Amino acid sequence: MEVKIIRSSRRRRTISARLVKDMLLIQAPALLSQERLDKIVTGFKLKFEKKRLKEELDRKDDLADIAGRLNQKYFGNKLKINSIKYVTTQNCKFGCCNYRTGEIRISHKIGFMPTWVREYVLIHEMAHLIEPNHSKAFWDILSCYKLSERAKGYLMAAGLNSEGVI
Ligand SMILES: [Zn+2]
Repeated sequence: MEVKIIRSSRRRRTISARLVKDMLLIQAPALLSQERLDKIVTGFKLKFEKKRLKEELDRKDDLADIAGRLNQKYFGNKLKINSIKYVTTQNCKFGCCNYRTGEIRISHKIGFMPTWVREYVLIHEMAHLIEPNHSKAFWDILSCYKLSERAKGYLMAAGLNSEGVI
């Protein structure tokens, strides 16, 4: 990402950042130290890159549509999913499900994995709407997806813990 920094002696404190086409335009006070500015620019770059990543994934995959199809195929259309979306936050490693609110979040990392792995993660999170814990009943539900074990192996190689728990 190209970065352009404009320092202004009229600015005292505030730093602003915005995207102009593909360039990140930063406006900063003239007296701000280079070290502090570098840190701030890195933060802005990360934030905008994540935003762009999320937009790219949202254009590529309609998660609600995919989840709807999986709901039909594996759950007899019985699940109530209130929202399902990609997130770029660190606290959701591969996928998260809030079974109380029916909200599912899928990590952006999954968006770049093979379709059968992504389907596994969706089915895994969707199954949590029925079984919140990783009980035997939960794994029984997941066994309906033939590629479950293979997908767990794939995710373990990508840094998932050894129980195949998401
Ligand atoms: Zn889980």
